[in-house]
Amino acid sequence: MDTVVYPGSFDPITKGHINIIKRAVNLFDEVIVAVFNNPNKDHIFSMEERVSLLKVTISDIDKVKIDSFTGLTTNYVKSQKAKAILRGLRAVSDFEGEFQMASMNKELDDSIETIFLMTDTKYAFLSSSLVKEVAKFGGNLNNVVPEPVEKALQKKFKEQ
Ligand code: ADP
Repeated sequence: MDTVVYPGSFDPITKGHINIIKRAVNLFDEVIVAVFNNPNKDHIFSMEERVSLLKVTISDIDKVKIDSFTGLTTNYVKSQKAKAILRGLRAVSDFEGEFQMASMNKELDDSIETIFLMTDTKYAFLSSSLVKEVAKFGGNLNNVVPEPVEKALQKKFKEQ
């Protein structure tokens, strides 16, 4: 079985991520969407909140599994008996970081490939950080995040 791991912060999941996931299930037998807890990043949603937002927004997609992990992505990928890491690529600005990370992961485990899907141009501008900025000031996010995510963002910023 060909399994791919789509790791990310998903803080929170956007329609850009969902577009990548929906396209990936056409290419692989199983897509594991795995929330990665990056201690170097400031997350607005906890790991549990991010996982539960994934559950309400993407668990209806066939062949998708939702999980979370800490530590090296390559170790996690191996533990899942997956063959590849999936990442989405937006503008040129994504390239350098993704290139570095893919090269380092190859260095760590030569048997695991990183595969990139180009963003749908409709979502090329979209990032979780931009979504958080807009949510902070009460902007309408209807077209860019699923409804449960928009609600969770509103609640989070009300609490703050
Ligand atoms: P990370 O913190 O690991 O970059 P993100 O949750 O921001 O995690 O993104 C996970 C992956 O999804 C990354 O490969 C990122 O480039 C990709 N991605 C994010 N937003 C989009 C989008 N709008 N279109 C396509 N890919 C995207």
